[in-house]
Amino acid sequence: MTAVKYIFVTGGVTSSLGKGIIAASLGKLLQARGYRVTIQKFDPYINIDPGTLNPYEHGECYVTQDGAETDLDLGHYERFLNISTSRSNNITTGRIYNNVITKEREGAYLGKTVQVIPHITDEIKRNFYLLGDSGDYDIVITEIGGCVGDIESLPFIEALRQARFEMGSNNALVIHLTLIPFLKSAGELKTKPTQHSVKQLLEAGIQPDILVCRTEYPLPEEIRRKLALFCNVQHKDVIESIDASTIYDVPLLMKKEKLDQRVLSKLKLSATHEPELEGWKDFLGRLKNPSYEVNIALVGKYVALPDAYKSIVEAFIHAGAVNECKVKLTYFSAEGIDDATVKHTLDGVDGILVAPGFGERGIEGKICTVKHAREQKIPFFGICLGMQIAVVEFARNVLDLAGAHSTEMDANTPYPVIHLLESQKSVTQKGGTMRLGAYPCKLKKGTKAAQAYGDSLISERHRHRYEFNNAFLKDFEEHGMIPSGINPESGLVEIMELKNHPWFLGTQFHPELKSTVLNPHPLFVRFVKAALDLKSGRI
Ligand code: GLN
Repeated sequence: MTAVKYIFVTGGVTSSLGKGIIAASLGKLLQARGYRVTIQKFDPYINIDPGTLNPYEHGECYVTQDGAETDLDLGHYERFLNISTSRSNNITTGRIYNNVITKEREGAYLGKTVQVIPHITDEIKRNFYLLGDSGDYDIVITEIGGCVGDIESLPFIEALRQARFEMGSNNALVIHLTLIPFLKSAGELKTKPTQHSVKQLLEAGIQPDILVCRTEYPLPEEIRRKLALFCNVQHKDVIESIDASTIYDVPLLMKKEKLDQRVLSKLKLSATHEPELEGWKDFLGRLKNPSYEVNIALVGKYVALPDAYKSIVEAFIHAGAVNECKVKLTYFSAEGIDDATVKHTLDGVDGILVAPGFGERGIEGKICTVKHAREQKIPFFGICLGMQIAVVEFARNVLDLAGAHSTEMDANTPYPVIHLLESQKSVTQKGGTMRLGAYPCKLKKGTKAAQAYGDSLISERHRHRYEFNNAFLKDFEEHGMIPSGINPESGLVEIMELKNHPWFLGTQFHPELKSTVLNPHPLFVRFVKAALDLKSGRI
């Protein structure tokens, strides 16, 4: 068996340069050449995982099949590579320290003083190798979050220095992602920040093998030469990463710059065939040449930061391409909506999505939104909290259960149509304790859900504490809101849909987490189609 090859991606100059997209794009190219690739992310913050973070801190919390709450970059890895990631693909400083401290309490260090070097760095390295050791991959790409020079990422950088030395240069390489800013007043692209950032890596004992340079303008020959000279890399290892109109262009841009070829050559891997990217190019073609357009309203709480709904946004891009339709997504803060304004606010939208969320803020606005979608027969998609709100609205306005609510918002409601999961009743800890990850769901024949999936048994990912209260199920069914998806083991309702409506469906799970470029999610595809139908009918 040949050795697993490791590629590390570090970042410099500023954060938010898109290390995740570069890692995912390179992963895509290597996978398309026939290699088994996975990508992992190491985050420098001290939270054990991002599950307890407000979405405004780091964007959406992405949930894996195995129920880990992870960084949103894992979503990019899955969407680009069409693979499943797991708990092992996202490690934080908090996890590393937690493991080391637990071992210390168990007496595992035999009286030694426990220190950053070697104990923390050893634990980081153990995690660097974990996925590679499984035998499932030829190449493991490791993204190091944050910027070089940050105090909090120092142990990761030190562990990387050690690991690379131990593995040898044929088995590990470092790609450094930096920014080449354009100074308007000078009319020039500037290399100095990159030079400094590489110096910082050198101080830590790491010479990057490849520079990937984010830039708004093409890198002139002279700038490439200068970067090579000052950063000790070969000219052909200066890779331009120019701003793209869509992140899905980046793999092709990286291919044009030969990033994959440089990587293979350095790792002494053969490049037997060109990357097979037919499906990808097909998707891009449809994405860029839409024949139609629909307006979808996303009603939620974290609307000031689109990253809070990253996977939903991407799922719409995938589903739009399938329908040859540009999806114009407009964000509405639920707090700004009430019975008097809803009609005007959502005027002209072809579909309404009520987003996942927690807590009371904006709930009444979401209820008005659902009522509007139900009565006006506008295609409606409710995800997690969005489904729960649809249930509350139906209970109040169709079943006449005044004051019906979820016990998350009103513990004393006379009609707790949404209530705490039995398994949650004894839970007191916050982190990692929701109903998380993949569960099976059986679909009812002849429903919109079954039609969309074209299947009778599916598996979807969850992240919630509350559920539909089955004591009310009969009443709902008799009045036309039916459970089209049910967990076959626990009997939990996973999908609710309306009978007498063009398309009105809510899921307790998060379908957006499973939508990829090559496998757009069927519910998003159908929802966009329903919006398109409404629009063409209207025209
Ligand atoms: N707050 C709701 C629950 O915990 C919904 C969660 C969500 O939308 N992810 O059940």
